[in-house]
Amino acid sequence: MGLAVTGVELGGQAVGVRCEGQRIAALGPGVEAEPGDEVIAGDGLALVPGLVNGHTHAAMTLFRGYADDLPLMEWLEDNIWPIEKRMSDDDVYWGTRLACLEMIRTGTTSFWDMYWHAHAAARAVEDAGLRAVTAAPLIDDSDPAKSERACSDADRSLAQIAEAGGPLARPGFAPHAIYSVSEKSLRWVAERAEDLGIPVQIHVSETREEVEGCLAEYGMRPAQWLDRCGLLGRGTVLAHGVWLDDSELELIAERGATVVTNPVANMKLAVGGTFPYTRARERGVALGIGTDGPGSNNSLDLLADAKVFALAQKHAAADPAVAPAHEVWELVTGAGSDLLGAGRLEPGGPADFLLVRAGAAELAPGDLVANLVYAASGSVVDTTVVAGRALMRGGEIEGADEVVARTREHADRLFRG
Ligand SMILES: [Zn+2]
Repeated sequence: MGLAVTGVELGGQAVGVRCEGQRIAALGPGVEAEPGDEVIAGDGLALVPGLVNGHTHAAMTLFRGYADDLPLMEWLEDNIWPIEKRMSDDDVYWGTRLACLEMIRTGTTSFWDMYWHAHAAARAVEDAGLRAVTAAPLIDDSDPAKSERACSDADRSLAQIAEAGGPLARPGFAPHAIYSVSEKSLRWVAERAEDLGIPVQIHVSETREEVEGCLAEYGMRPAQWLDRCGLLGRGTVLAHGVWLDDSELELIAERGATVVTNPVANMKLAVGGTFPYTRARERGVALGIGTDGPGSNNSLDLLADAKVFALAQKHAAADPAVAPAHEVWELVTGAGSDLLGAGRLEPGGPADFLLVRAGAAELAPGDLVANLVYAASGSVVDTTVVAGRALMRGGEIEGADEVVARTREHADRLFRG
């Protein structure tokens, strides 16, 4: 008994897909449902891989629409941090459920999350049915005296994530950034993550000030500093990387870390630069795209961000041939990095995929990938399947109204409290 999609379009022909457990059991022309399968008729739909959001703070849906159009530090210090101090597990749980709802609706099947109360986020991910790496955050204000406490808190958070999570929500570490975490803690994270075989996520080179601060304090650039701390390996996701120079990109490519660019958040917070995509790609850096948190985006619709990424790159390079649609599609589906990669659509691979409405106005006529990147938004997604389970069918998600209502209640309480 599994899930079967019949007569769906893939590469110009009608195919069937059968999922057993969390995997694709069969895919191709002539693949039919078996007795007892849940069956989805694929007429008018096209099969594409699920999208991978490489960097977000999902529960920040709670902040959506509350504090826009402010400079970064004013936004953080006056609007975000005071509220975050009051947040409970339940606030993060519902904030993350709302994010999952939006991601399911817009075609994201897996995401990389960094936020407080990460065990509550892990529980939300499991309940929503998505996949995620939910990471234990670590900030010690770059004060080695606070390192021991911050590391033991991160370790405790990791144990709580493991307890609350399951096959879908996997644990990781999330030291916040080089300007907010001491060398002592960064080295501890590198060793602990290596011992446990879990990934690490960190913000890097988001602003020019961060690079200048790193040069002044350590006499080297941010990626070099992270390498010195042992954090530039294959299990690390570097979010942003707007100001990485060629020597840093070469080092990152050599060490195998993945850089996730967040074009919309960078533009909304006006960091003043564009991720050096062409130079990173030429050097063989593993790459992905993220939305960043919905407090600074404000959406989690990765197809919308794919277009912004492509346009920002073309515009900055004054070259329309930069970031062509098929490359952007690779990034947005996780195919630009083994670490992010959600796996290919093939028997034995994870049963994570989308059925998009092939007849939607935005997808007609012309090349499907070009239309998905340049013309569509997440509204073309009809069905979202994760780990062999249809989380959305025909645009309907079970329990969606309750998730919106509960999150609204929690946000109201936080902002009025
Ligand atoms: Zn971020």
